Amino acid sequence: MVRLAVTGAAGRMGQEVLAAAADREVEVAFAVNRSPVAEPIAGVDVQPTDEFAALLADHQPDAVVDFTGPDSAVDYADACAEIGVALVTGTTGFDEAGLAALKAASESTAVLKASNFSRGVAALRLAVQEATAALPDADIELTETHHNAKRDAPSGTAKTLLDDIQEVREDLSERVHGREGEAPRSTDEIGVHARRAGDIAGKHEVLLGGSNETLSLTHRAGDRSIFADGALDAAEWLAGREAGWYDFFEVIEGE
Ligand code: NAD
Repeated sequence: MVRLAVTGAAGRMGQEVLAAAADREVEVAFAVNRSPVAEPIAGVDVQPTDEFAALLADHQPDAVVDFTGPDSAVDYADACAEIGVALVTGTTGFDEAGLAALKAASESTAVLKASNFSRGVAALRLAVQEATAALPDADIELTETHHNAKRDAPSGTAKTLLDDIQEVREDLSERVHGREGEAPRSTDEIGVHARRAGDIAGKHEVLLGGSNETLSLTHRAGDRSIFADGALDAAEWLAGREAGWYDFFEVIEGE
């Protein structure tokens, strides 16, 4: 049975991960959270974050599953790298230095980072790349919608989709975030729109517009359990692998 540690345990995703772990053959060795948590979550006692390194050394789990913030994810990655524990992180909003630090950690341990652990979004990424290649003259606009407490914008998934599009359409060099006033569209731009409302788990739409036809590809997350299930699939797959940088497509393909 795979033994995991969970960070950000009282967060929206942390709670989902603990609930999903309780439903499958996975043992949670320990869980941490920045602010104190009085009651167990899904039967797991939650410890303070500042005990993370000591808990990691004591329990030596097969993998850590992290959904927190970019600074803490880097700290957790460093601690994992130090003693060779695999890390699955779904945290988004890393700047270049944060990403470089995660990649540096992957030289000492297995690190799998995904901006989205939904299999539907993985399928959306493939469909978007195919549609982008098939419609080389289309104007492309991306709209993402999330709950009102989301910190980073646009979402990590939106950035991943934009990277995918720009890999196929190198001519689309400019990301235009919203428009206001006199703002005619140029041919080298992708429009990017971030909406925040209520408790929406996540919606991403890529609109490809040509003359007399449009194609819209949309993924809607019904709830956060899909991300937790994907992250646990990734942790089970990553456990025991050698140091390196892995991605969620490898989990889906079962390589
Ligand atoms: P949240 O705010 O509900 O929870 C974040 C948790 O991390 C909280 O418990 C918070 O205390 C903790 N935390 C934040 N900063 C910390 C720090 N510096 N040190 C220690 N703990 C810290 O957020 P959420 O909705 O659970 O999302 C968490 C992250 O996961 C975000 O980056 C979000 O974009 C990302 N996310 C990814 C996916 C995916 O599939 N990859 C899905 C949903 C959310």
